[in-house]
Amino acid sequence: MVQKRTINLTFHGVGEPPRALDEGEADVWVSHDRFLDVLDGAAERDDVRITFDDGNASDLELGLDALLERGLTATFFVVAGRLGVSGFLDEADVRRLADAGMEIGCHGMHHRPWRGLDDTELRAELVDAKATLEAVVERPVAEAACPFGAYDRRVLRALRSAGYRRVFTSDRGTTDSARFLQARNSVGPADDAGLLGRIPSVDGAVGRRAKLAVKRWR
Ligand SMILES: [Zn+2]
Repeated sequence: MVQKRTINLTFHGVGEPPRALDEGEADVWVSHDRFLDVLDGAAERDDVRITFDDGNASDLELGLDALLERGLTATFFVVAGRLGVSGFLDEADVRRLADAGMEIGCHGMHHRPWRGLDDTELRAELVDAKATLEAVVERPVAEAACPFGAYDRRVLRALRSAGYRRVFTSDRGTTDSARFLQARNSVGPADDAGLLGRIPSVDGAVGRRAKLAVKRWR
């Protein structure tokens, strides 16, 4: 089987932020116009996969219709512990996305880096958050996105044993769509559709994994 090179894009918030942003969040919050421009670019290609992190209310308010109008689908990585918090998706919103043909993935329980957590904390992020989201959409949640792009071998082992089939990072570059580890490219406020022509063809996830392996041998 020929494995296809895919460009995975990550959006966070879109449009006017409805709440005070966390530190660093403004760097990944995009205007409505830029968002639509990148989506237009993605719609012209067949090698772009779109993802949204953090479960912002704009996923539904601005994201869903724009995707449907362009015949696109996306995966929405939702923070289970933020469901219903002002500015974020609630359970009905997540169900609407799922019912419209969108994929729902897990972005943990409390939006904290998974690296360095103890076993109980890691279980809450990977297992309990997954179960919470599965209860909302009444179907398996089998994809995860690492908050802040942070992971290590222990996190990946825990993700596999929690039953995830695919894990999305922030390692940049293109990736094989069949891989367990999926590199992604975060879209920032200065990006437009031209971004798609500037994605490095290296696989960031593979590069990162090679680094992890080197660390292990040292
Ligand atoms: Zn996040």
